[in-house]
Amino acid sequence: MDTTTPVSQFVADHVRALPRSGIREFFDIVQGMPGVISLGVGEPDFVTPWNIREAAIYALERGRTTYTSNFGLLKLREAIARRVAEGFGAAYNPVNEVLVTVGVSEALDIAMRALLNPGDEVIYHEPCYVSYMPGIALAHGVARPVVCRAEDGFAVRPEAIAAMITPRTKVLVLNFPTNPTGGTMTQPDLQAIADLAVKHNLIVITDEIYSELTYEGHHASFVALPGMRERTIFLHGFSKAYAMTGFRIGYACGPVDLIEAMMKVHQYSMLCASIISQEAAIEALRNGQSATEEMRESYRLRRDFIVRSFNEIGLPCHLPRGAFYAFPSVQPTGLTSKEFAVRLLKEKSVACVPGTAFGECGEGFLRCCYATAMDRIEEAVERMAQFVRSL
Ligand code: PLP
Repeated sequence: MDTTTPVSQFVADHVRALPRSGIREFFDIVQGMPGVISLGVGEPDFVTPWNIREAAIYALERGRTTYTSNFGLLKLREAIARRVAEGFGAAYNPVNEVLVTVGVSEALDIAMRALLNPGDEVIYHEPCYVSYMPGIALAHGVARPVVCRAEDGFAVRPEAIAAMITPRTKVLVLNFPTNPTGGTMTQPDLQAIADLAVKHNLIVITDEIYSELTYEGHHASFVALPGMRERTIFLHGFSKAYAMTGFRIGYACGPVDLIEAMMKVHQYSMLCASIISQEAAIEALRNGQSATEEMRESYRLRRDFIVRSFNEIGLPCHLPRGAFYAFPSVQPTGLTSKEFAVRLLKEKSVACVPGTAFGECGEGFLRCCYATAMDRIEEAVERMAQFVRSL
């Protein structure tokens, strides 16, 4: 090997081409700045409920420290199948149609790797979770973002998806409620998307990680629509509903052949999810509902306050019906998303994420996570009001 050549030349082209996460890039600036109020990282401010933590401790005490089946503990898969049947309206066989993963993050990654041949196209809606485009690129797929608009409450228009479909389109990724906009969908629009999936023979990956954090009405699951179970991979996890981000635990449900393909990728890359987290997840499904409801009510109060405040201070903001993000417009200030976020941080020590971190169409918006203590949110909003007045 020629040791004079830089080692960076050995990095694969498709990895080199990936940008670093816009969130991480921005929060590198925040590191070490004193007195900053962060509405940045999308993570519950609650500690995992005690009974769930205790289940993890008890698992350790019993010496539960081994590998599990590649699919995950059968007891957990059975509990997942029950929850998905009751809460989302789709029945899965826990033996071969449920796969326990290291968070929804891993489930997304192995779904892409299991499904895509080089050049296959994947449609998803933007602004969106930062991992979708890189996950597609890492699996050698072609990312095809569909733009969602503020005037539609950031819902996806079925006709915008239809316009993006080509003969190479294989997969459609949906995420409701949506990170970063809090967008949700109506049943008729979801049905129109389901009709497109049938017409064009698409596989749908539905990421419903925020479904428990739906504030108005009931969460409508894509997988419950007629005919969708057979062409859908349903992804869900424990990070948001049970404040279990650090446990790194999630799952995928789908038709046998697709779960089998995902299991192969999982088997050779991850082997299995942590047994301690799996034991904790069983307790979350058995006895975690009331904690989730309490957290949801707390988020709802904060959402109502932050959205009202943004509108009052001149940053127009739609009412997000789910998740824990507000997505106000900064367009009236004349600043770009990044200019606004950087100046707000430097001048008022409030950290929010520029909308562009979630796709180009996030320009003009800011993502503000309200999973932060109410007094911190009040202080952040007051500082933002001062900043807007100073412009
Ligand atoms: N999907 C969406 C839409 C998210 O917002 C996140 C995390 O923020 C994830 C998936 C990843 O979740 P997990 O912690 O289960 O890996």
